[in-house]
Amino acid sequence: MSEFSTTDQQTLDSKTVQASGAPLFDDKGYTSFAWLQNMDMTPYDYPYINQLLVQGYRNWIQQSNGISWISEECTAVFNFTGVRVAGREEDDDEDLELVERCCISREMEVSQRKLRDGSLAFVYMVPILCRNYKKDPFAALRFTRTAQHSVSNQDALLVASLHFRSCFYSKFEYIFMEDILGMQNRSEREGRRRSILFQIVKRMHDKIDVEGVLDEVFGSIAYLFPHVDITLYMSQDRHSRNPQVKPLLLHERDEDVCVRAFMKGQMAVNEPAGPHDEITEIGIPLRGKQGVYGVFHMILPAGADSMEKVDVELIVMMADTAGTAFENAKLLEQSNVLIHELRLINELVQRLNQSLKLNEIFEFAVQELLKMFMADFCCIVQLDQDESCFKVMSSNVESLKLESYPREGGFAGLISKTGEPVIVSDYRKDGKISSRFMDTTGSQSLMAVPMKNRGTPRGVILLSSKLPHFFSYDNYKMLQMLAPHIGLAVTNAMLHAEVRRLANMDMLTGLYVRHYVDRIIQEHQEKDFCGSLILVDIDQFKQVNDTYGHQTGDEILKSVSNIVRTATRDEDVCARWGGEELAIYLPQLGVQQALEYAEKIRCRVQYETDPQVTVSCGIAEWNWLDEQISIESLFYRADMALYEAKNEGRNRIVIDHTDDM
Ligand code: GH3
Ligand code: MG
Ligand code: MG
Repeated sequence: MSEFSTTDQQTLDSKTVQASGAPLFDDKGYTSFAWLQNMDMTPYDYPYINQLLVQGYRNWIQQSNGISWISEECTAVFNFTGVRVAGREEDDDEDLELVERCCISREMEVSQRKLRDGSLAFVYMVPILCRNYKKDPFAALRFTRTAQHSVSNQDALLVASLHFRSCFYSKFEYIFMEDILGMQNRSEREGRRRSILFQIVKRMHDKIDVEGVLDEVFGSIAYLFPHVDITLYMSQDRHSRNPQVKPLLLHERDEDVCVRAFMKGQMAVNEPAGPHDEITEIGIPLRGKQGVYGVFHMILPAGADSMEKVDVELIVMMADTAGTAFENAKLLEQSNVLIHELRLINELVQRLNQSLKLNEIFEFAVQELLKMFMADFCCIVQLDQDESCFKVMSSNVESLKLESYPREGGFAGLISKTGEPVIVSDYRKDGKISSRFMDTTGSQSLMAVPMKNRGTPRGVILLSSKLPHFFSYDNYKMLQMLAPHIGLAVTNAMLHAEVRRLANMDMLTGLYVRHYVDRIIQEHQEKDFCGSLILVDIDQFKQVNDTYGHQTGDEILKSVSNIVRTATRDEDVCARWGGEELAIYLPQLGVQQALEYAEKIRCRVQYETDPQVTVSCGIAEWNWLDEQISIESLFYRADMALYEAKNEGRNRIVIDHTDDM
């Protein structure tokens, strides 16, 4: 029954284990550890086997309990050099000789000796041979046979020796298995680490933003090494929402582990200085291909044996991965910023170029800059025509509009002198320059850049915030990029205005040209109730030319034009109508009032010209009650009146009376 159950149990075990793929029993039901039994020592192991010999010997003595001649009293075990490692001390010199002899002969050696108590004894030295085919002796076992400890025959000694060898090998196999298990444990742990590292690497590279990569690193380290206190010191001006990220101060002393790690681009360690200084500090660089971005600083708690070499290596590997992932994310971030900036510049430039009106451009620039930089206040100033002061061209601060600043002093003064941009993070603390713009608005941060025209500063853009340290260095760079575009738009608008002014001007007389007056009259006729037109023609001008020459004729024409301009109001529009004929449109005036101006002109021409000339004038008016309101009709009637004045003898004024008829 018991036999059956044993076999049954073995079959069961065999099946159970076979299911897991590693059979422990062969088909006869024996354990198949043949490979293990084939494992043996090599002569290289001999110097290290003393410990094993002692353990084997102890087991052997223990297992032979009850056999009187197998005890520590009457046996001893020697290693292959003849050194006794366990058992009773007797005669070391003679033992050495016996060990040598039996190791050479590979047979049991016998000798007789006198013991310390004076009694005679037989000594048997049995070589212990390896179990492999070479059967090299690696130890020797000594039996001391006295009258009390007699052995019936020598075979019993050989059997006991074989038993010792078994005890030795079982210890040997045990250690061997322990080694293998240890290795397996280590490789399993390493495998786990690698798979964690792999997951981390994968997740890190999945992140495309810098903050995400950093969060992943901190998260992973906290997960793997919860006892490690870690901070990341970044070398660049980077604001992180992560409280574990701080700026790296490079002016710290050399002993600083972070500075060392940053400078060398390698891990740096500050070992505990003494038994009481118990923490270890480690600095590991966050390194990419283009440089070192920061340093991970770790503080290991007291007695941190836990920080094995492998752990540090793992963190270094993670830091390297993080460095590459960080660099990639940073490059992506930078290119996104660049794209964004280019887009903004492009939009701004496009919209600036949509207008050629100077005040519109300034207004638009102020609004856009405020929006783009989330600034509180903006002001654009330009040098006045005579360059004596700055004029505020546009601002969102009402009290500053249309103001002017002295040319020297303030930020605008400084910038127009140096041509360099300025950034101020804390106006109150800085205190170097006193600025009306900053004082009026109660601002703390400022960015101010020059607006140049062909390389010389003609104006300044000022942007401010009530908060200190509001603008970033990137904002500052961006504004510097935008300023030339705004400057260019301003220059274009100014040139355009000048061209238009010139196109509407008559070069000789400095009066407007005919088509300009046409336009102005049309505009007035659309919105006013009435207006008058005076046509002025120099009398007998042909004769003047013939008598004094064309050049004098030109001078006369210029002086008459000058009289016309100065004799009228600013809002009156004076033009050269053609040849030596001039036209004056007087908005909102009737003929009677226009007559007064015409009379003034007629008199002044008569008395102020040299050589003297006279003029004849024709006046016509329109008002909103007219049946037909048009420039043509107005001119026609004025011209008719002029014709009449000429006919009536010249140097006179005739008012059109067509309406009265
Ligand atoms: P009136 O008007 O009194 O009938 O006589 P007028 O001699 O002025 O006659 P008309 O208007 O026919 O002649 C205009 C002359 O003005 C012809 C031309 O030589 C001269 N003239 C026109 N434009 C200029 C100019 O820009 N410079 C000079 N020097 N002469 C001009
Ligand atoms: Mg004339
Ligand atoms: Mg004429």
